[in-house]
Amino acid sequence: MGHFSKILIANRGEIALRIQRACRELDIKTVAVHSTIDEEAKYVKLADESVCIGPSPSKDSYLNIPAIIAAAEVTNSEAIHPGYGFLSENSDFAEQVLKSGFTFIGPSPSVIKTMGNKIEAKKEMEKLGIPCIPGYTDKIPSDQKAIKKIASDIGYPIIIKAAGGGGGRGMKITRSEDELIENLQLTKTESYAAFGDASVYLEKFLESPRHIEIQLLSDNFGNVIHLGERDCSIQRKHQKLIEETPALGITEEEREKIGALCTEACKKINYQGAGTMEFLYYDKNFYFIEMNTRIQVEHPITESVTGVDLVQEQIKIAANVPLELKQKDIKFNGHAIECRINAEDSNTFMPSPGKILVWHTPGGPGVRVDSHVYANYVVPAYYDSMIGKIIVYGKNRKQALEKMRVALSEMIIEGISTNLNLHRELISDPAFKKGKVHINFLNEKLNL
Ligand code: ADP
Repeated sequence: MGHFSKILIANRGEIALRIQRACRELDIKTVAVHSTIDEEAKYVKLADESVCIGPSPSKDSYLNIPAIIAAAEVTNSEAIHPGYGFLSENSDFAEQVLKSGFTFIGPSPSVIKTMGNKIEAKKEMEKLGIPCIPGYTDKIPSDQKAIKKIASDIGYPIIIKAAGGGGGRGMKITRSEDELIENLQLTKTESYAAFGDASVYLEKFLESPRHIEIQLLSDNFGNVIHLGERDCSIQRKHQKLIEETPALGITEEEREKIGALCTEACKKINYQGAGTMEFLYYDKNFYFIEMNTRIQVEHPITESVTGVDLVQEQIKIAANVPLELKQKDIKFNGHAIECRINAEDSNTFMPSPGKILVWHTPGGPGVRVDSHVYANYVVPAYYDSMIGKIIVYGKNRKQALEKMRVALSEMIIEGISTNLNLHRELISDPAFKKGKVHINFLNEKLNL
């Protein structure tokens, strides 16, 4: 059993602040690392120490492994929390952190590596008895006839996916044999350019499933629990926009069944830390799509309904503390919804960086705003456009929806364009209110 005295946070923005808060409550000192443009950021000033790790472009700073390791060395940090995005799912980073004598707050490099390759992950999950989308994960033959046979055996429409894909990129829907060979080639070329890996696999394309994921916590002593599901079906370009828990219509039996399958799988792969298994849910069936080996953007909604601080649990697990929580301790109370606020043009969805002139956040019972920005903060053009999250908690879905409606009406952001209006529209949309959501819901609404 251990306790860290100092943690380096290898991230920026709202999650850097979120991790810092968790550390402070646990009485752990924090080190913020930052690029030159983030020098004045509030979370950098709030940290106990800060180290500049390079110029603004991510590749020179937040993705600069030697600079981050050096920062951990000069500050005598004991552990590194990678947050989400950036190096959080980079097995080389995790390995170098360990080799340099620090604790990586997350699973082992080998687990990160397996789950980071979607083909490997899918094969592993199939072996562990997790339901997967029918498809083809073996090496794609070079003979066109053979490829066509594989695709028609799966049955159109199919989706061609990159083994190294992520962030909604590296996927091509293919509706007929005419476009198969061309799309396959395109996905391979694009995947190689984007992820340095040309391997792809084929999967049945499900037309209107929901995206439902299971939150897991697994310690170093074989104790694993699940913290229920999140419905993340409201997406644009495969990027989540609104998440909620519990997922409408999922029964307690379904939750327990899929939760038990996931916890068993975690045990078998010796998973360590917080993780999420993502599924598409269709016709009452769960189909695994991927596992994220890190904390997720939407983790606060799970915290709201379970009362568990997931970031603190991650830290304690990494410090070799056995999970105090047992599955029976996890009770799901009420309903939580999160809206991701992006700095983007409301029509074109293009990023809209710049100076925030007015920033008024909502409040009241059950309203949480996770954000690092403030009035006069300049949103840099270099990074992700998400500037904050509004999370509401109500005793049921109806109350949560009402709270979100009011919270969104109170939120005022001036100086830059944001997607606030889109959220206001969605939260009052009759079909959304009825819970008739699926992954193409937003596309259909926007007539895309
Ligand atoms: P990423 O790592 O890029 O987020 P995922 O495999 O998690 O990729 O898929 C992201 C999204 O793409 C899913 O939430 C879903 O909207 C869509 N998607 C992926 N696979 C399929 C499929 N077989 N059928 C339909 N949609 C899919």
